[in-house]
Amino acid sequence: MNKVAINDFFATLKAANPMPVTELEYTSVFELLTAVLLSAQATDVSVNKATRKLFVVANTPQKIFDLGLLGLESYIKTIGLYHSKAKHLLETCKMLIEQHGSVVPRLRQELEALPGVGRKTANVVLNSAFGEATMAVDTHIFRVSNRTGLAVGKTPLAVELKLLKRIPKAYLIDAHHWMILHGRYVCMARQPRCWECGVANFCDYKAKTLQD
Ligand code: SF4
Repeated sequence: MNKVAINDFFATLKAANPMPVTELEYTSVFELLTAVLLSAQATDVSVNKATRKLFVVANTPQKIFDLGLLGLESYIKTIGLYHSKAKHLLETCKMLIEQHGSVVPRLRQELEALPGVGRKTANVVLNSAFGEATMAVDTHIFRVSNRTGLAVGKTPLAVELKLLKRIPKAYLIDAHHWMILHGRYVCMARQPRCWECGVANFCDYKAKTLQD
């Protein structure tokens, strides 16, 4: 995809959704961090269902830590990999309490040092909570980038670095949301809905699908 097409691609997504937001529900940076940590290999819908009940009783590092493993698991057991996520979240809460005054740090290095928090989670928090132009490459963004020709790469990191270079600055801050939503609802994994795709004219994918 050339520069002009990339610009048109994002201009079109922006026109359709000028202020995109994550579908995860949160009211604080800590709630966002918790929701993203729980969302690995799980749907946002399943995470929201669990956190709606969890955050009413515990939405600070200390309150979640005080729940203990079994207490925390009782709120999140409907989410995939809940046992290891509960352990990671408790360890993260402990670190936040002991090393960060119960405040989520805004440095990538400090975020990635938290148990269960990898580069992707750090990127989401830096972007959605702190307004930094980071690009969290999840399965949707990885697929859309490679399929459309926006950023071809073999690993999420390779795609992330290319996207950061290729997406015009004006669109970078929201690009991650537009691409996730586009991948989730239009450019889907099994059968992309090319026949109703607003950015089809700018996309390099040759085998465009037709409605049957
Ligand atoms: S035209 Fe098809 S492959 Fe290209 S972005 Fe749209 S849905 Fe995806």
